[in-house]
Amino acid sequence: MSKKLPHEQIVGVKLNDNQMRENLMKAMHTLQRNRLNIIKDKFNDWQGLRNKAKTAKNNALMSLKDRLLEFEENASKNGIKVHWASSDEEACEIIYELMIEKNINKILKGKSMASEEIGLNHFLEKKGISAIETDLGELILQLNGETPVHIVVPAIHRNRYEVGEIFKEKLNAPLESDIEKLNAIARKHLRDEFEGLKMGLSGVNFAISKEGAFWLIENEGNGRMCTTAPDIHVALCGVEKVMQSFEDAATMVCLLTPSATGQFIPTYNNIISGPRKNGDLDGPKEVHVILFDHHRSDMLSHKDYYEALRCIRCGACMNFCPVYDQIGGHAYQTIYPGPIGEVISPNLFGMDNTGDILSFCSLCGRCSEVCPVKIPLADLIRKLRANKIGQGENPPMGTNLVHKNNLEASVFKKFEKMATNGDSWRFYLSKAHYFNWFVQSFKGSLPIVKKWSEFKDLPQIKLDLYKEVQKIQGVSYE
Ligand code: SF4
Repeated sequence: MSKKLPHEQIVGVKLNDNQMRENLMKAMHTLQRNRLNIIKDKFNDWQGLRNKAKTAKNNALMSLKDRLLEFEENASKNGIKVHWASSDEEACEIIYELMIEKNINKILKGKSMASEEIGLNHFLEKKGISAIETDLGELILQLNGETPVHIVVPAIHRNRYEVGEIFKEKLNAPLESDIEKLNAIARKHLRDEFEGLKMGLSGVNFAISKEGAFWLIENEGNGRMCTTAPDIHVALCGVEKVMQSFEDAATMVCLLTPSATGQFIPTYNNIISGPRKNGDLDGPKEVHVILFDHHRSDMLSHKDYYEALRCIRCGACMNFCPVYDQIGGHAYQTIYPGPIGEVISPNLFGMDNTGDILSFCSLCGRCSEVCPVKIPLADLIRKLRANKIGQGENPPMGTNLVHKNNLEASVFKKFEKMATNGDSWRFYLSKAHYFNWFVQSFKGSLPIVKKWSEFKDLPQIKLDLYKEVQKIQGVSYE
């Protein structure tokens, strides 16, 4: 992974990248429009469906241990080999050992944010093994040495002309910008890779404990190739993906695709219930599922942050986020960007590593409104911000998660005291204009103010403005 830049610096870089911003803006507006249209045209009770999904997911989370054991028992009966990993490293090791055991040195991957989370490509690369992306967006990124910019549409910041250039340079393809022709180039390249494939990897959208099966949705068909063409299929599944019944999982799928891309249903629904049986003409000979935790148990035991485990990775919160819209996913410098990234990244990767992104939020609350499983994202971001400066009642669990800035904490504690008492708030506001000159003159050297004013104009607090407020309130504090 490339070295991280200070977040103020990366935001500046992204705001100056006009091409990326234009591409992103167009794409986000299309996704927003598609979602709104499909909900209006096809759903009579979208809110009812959201409530149903929230309840089903909470029920699964509250009985997670039982659900996981039930899944293991039923999946094993179906001939699926279930592995358990508590950390990202352990999950990578399991895949590596399987490859060594079977003498395999190449793996083809369907789109999987879980594999990005555990850093699988990087891990295998260090062991001299190639992991090849087969999702079109992921392939473009891999060829160009980039990470995903979005959890659903990973290369959405690149337009078709840029993709044509990448294919020309990396695949020696003729320069094209026509979408059909670009697809044909990618298809041809990947068909060659699929030839003789021994091991394929996929993510999991929902594991179904009663059935011992798992559901994988996708639009390109590459996921189906990765799960059916090779001898061995390995599926990576975060523990929170387990639902109890087929009906519960179907409720989730009904919400997922409209929220993600504005489609009514996904193009491919793959329900995988085991390896090839006697008499089957195709399908893998072995199916492995890796159930990995990576701090999810810590989140589950937290009274607030457990809510983020309901996430079905639809990406709607980032599609509607006015900050993500402007800076794109790379500015977050973590694999999960946008509002959901601001909640789960500090929980999964540590506050010290990713806590800075908590300031990429205006607390407008659009994300919470569009989230199909009703995760109160803005509220959770606010709570994490308090934890970040050593305040708030419940810091995230796990190690190395709380970063305390004593100066910031004490300044904001005093501000809180002043601002939560009506009389003191009005009194200090009436006097604030006296400090205008001082703050404006020394803003470049005052702690906290210095950092803040580097990127924003400090407002002038006008006496007249305050008098207007007094007039409305009918009182005077002078
Ligand atoms: S938090 Fe909600 S809106 Fe955002 S990706 Fe997850 S399910 Fe979708």
